[in-house]
Amino acid sequence: MVGTTQLVYASRARSAVSLSELQQINATAVERNTANGITGMLLYGAGSFLQVLEGDRANVNRTYHRICQDARHVDPTLLFVAEIREREFSRWAMRFTMLDQACGAETKALLAKLGEHANFTPLELSASTAFVLLRAVARAHANQ
Ligand code: FAD
Repeated sequence: MVGTTQLVYASRARSAVSLSELQQINATAVERNTANGITGMLLYGAGSFLQVLEGDRANVNRTYHRICQDARHVDPTLLFVAEIREREFSRWAMRFTMLDQACGAETKALLAKLGEHANFTPLELSASTAFVLLRAVARAHANQ
């Protein structure tokens, strides 16, 4: 039996994306993911996205391919995909976080350490560094 699939990708926003567009993307993501049993996190900063999707393999695949067709971003690049035992981001249908508003000292310190705070470049991150960042943001939002 196929277990849960976890997928991470990075992309660049098509142009300067407004806050209302980001809110619209997240509202659609939460609605669709709730219906499809998908959980995860979406980070946005300096014109780039980093997203993790978790769920049933077929649903994660369908969702990722739909996201790749979206004209609001370009260069969707797969960083990681694997079967996992347990979801890591199970509390959110999609937790959206603007990195310049990232709460929590740990996240801010990590961004500074990665040299990522001013110029978030997830397309250049290794999968393991992407996870370090995603997990730090998840911890910062653990009670939200
Ligand atoms: P429809 O709403 O019917 O739209 C048709 C096409 O137009 C699709 O290709 C759609 O992507 C695109 N589109 C829709 N609105 C706009 C717009 N305002 N400007 C330009 N193109 C548009 N969806 C999820 O289900 N789960 C997610 O986790 C998720 N995360 C996302 C993360 C990012 C960074 C982005 C950019 C989008 C994300 N989406 C997510 C939205 C996804 O791309 C689809 O828009 C959404 O799933 C609806 O799909 P649909 O086929 O019903 O498209």
